[in-house]
Amino acid sequence: MPDITLPTDLLIDGAFVRGEGDAEKVLNPSTGELLIALPEASADQVHKAVSAAHRAFDSWSETTPMERSRLLLKLADAIEARGEEFARLESLNCGKPYARALGDEIPAVADCFRYFAGAARCVSGTVANEYLAGYTSMIRRDPIGVVGSIAPWNYPLMMAAWKIAPPLAAGNTVVIKPSEQTPLTTLLLAKVAAEIFPKGVLNVITGRGATVGQPLVEHPKVAMVSLTGDVSTGRKILQAATGTLKRTHLELGGKAPVIVFDDADIASVVEGLRTFGYYNAGQDCTAACRVYAGGKVYDKLVADLSSAVKGIKMGLQDDPDAEIGPLISDRQRNRVASFVERAQMTGHMEITAGGKAWGGPASSSGAPGGGFFYEPTVVAGARQEDEIVKREVFGPVVSVTRFTDTEQAIAWANDSDYGLASSVWTQDVARAMRVAKKLQYGCTWINTHFMLVNEMPHGGMKSSGYGKDLSMYALEDYTVARHVMIKM
Ligand code: NAD
Repeated sequence: MPDITLPTDLLIDGAFVRGEGDAEKVLNPSTGELLIALPEASADQVHKAVSAAHRAFDSWSETTPMERSRLLLKLADAIEARGEEFARLESLNCGKPYARALGDEIPAVADCFRYFAGAARCVSGTVANEYLAGYTSMIRRDPIGVVGSIAPWNYPLMMAAWKIAPPLAAGNTVVIKPSEQTPLTTLLLAKVAAEIFPKGVLNVITGRGATVGQPLVEHPKVAMVSLTGDVSTGRKILQAATGTLKRTHLELGGKAPVIVFDDADIASVVEGLRTFGYYNAGQDCTAACRVYAGGKVYDKLVADLSSAVKGIKMGLQDDPDAEIGPLISDRQRNRVASFVERAQMTGHMEITAGGKAWGGPASSSGAPGGGFFYEPTVVAGARQEDEIVKREVFGPVVSVTRFTDTEQAIAWANDSDYGLASSVWTQDVARAMRVAKKLQYGCTWINTHFMLVNEMPHGGMKSSGYGKDLSMYALEDYTVARHVMIKM
């Protein structure tokens, strides 16, 4: 990778400051090398960031949608203008191929800010009227206050955009904490945003969940907490929020079922699974990871998918042919590997592709790579009760299970703690629509998977949480509906 300056400073009340807490190691997952040891925010700095956001709320919440929209558009332009720098940093910190970060993520991040810049000016609702004779009622949608936002490590900049754009568009102020493993692009975003927004409107603090996230959630001046993360973290945040009865917006894990009927176009299913099951090394809450295949197509699907998956190229960030990178950490790789080992130990499942860890390309001296790669893996013969079918692996592992009829496929797909994303593959439109209606998931794709657009809501049911990111529904989540009544 070319030389790149790593951002180090937190943004608190418009000023750039070094963290005053313990140092946290930030690694390059492709090599295992240390990028930087970054001091996290101290308890006092968490407090200062929230106080700054609280002070800024008074004037920011008085700005017009047009004014907020103008600044969000400026931010989108500034991100695009420095797109290569953002992509380099993201790719360095997450290990993902640079070309993917630049080509897929930066445009989506800029578009998120542009969408909410427009959406802020287009909020609609019930008309004012005399619903009681002699009294005029109207609805207001007002911002809530300081939003404490907590983001995960899989798409750090994109998750920051999802967590920052809708609350700011709605007139809230934000204190955001990226994952301690991937703080770099959010710190660069802080630099860019500080030149655009008034001080205190956006504050960026870094650090671990227990030492920085928890005090942010518990702070009495934080009015709402928004998390994208693990189900267990969601539970902790809910518990911490009960003390002050804060609003919460939770976007948690997923275990997406993919129902493949016998009449599906198997070539496009295989192509879809090869892409949507393994993109970002499967570290995606909507990853197409739990396949249910009809009896007539099961064998062909397993065979074709396994050979397609063996062709997925892993590589370093700058390898132009690399399709996927490593997992975020050695710990995450061990977790993924242990799921596959336990699947293998059951005796009835077969690893038909992948199943091994890899350190990445050897160095020029021939020393083995120290990266956190794991081969794209297919686990065939999985049964509904198997752990690999039930639990989120969050890695490049897809299980395939045979089903016998439509009712069984729907029942198995819904037999999950998760409810984020799902897909149905068939050439029968009526069947696709019937199944889509029955699936208890925030999203169902038909003959595709994984595609998100800023205009449509993204969020789950059941343990996947209830917060909506993207779309007008996110703006609703970050505002409160209020009734104002006037006696005539
Ligand atoms: P994580 O829950 O471990 O961490 C997420 C964030 O929460 C991090 O910033 C972490 O520091 C913080 N955190 C941890 N404990 C905390 C606490 N007690 N109080 C406050 N903050 C705390 O998740 P992760 O490992 O970074 O990300 C992977 C998870 O995120 C997966 O389960 C994945 O499915 C989920 N995810 C969901 C979506 C979605 O849209 N639903 C998107 C991406 C990732």
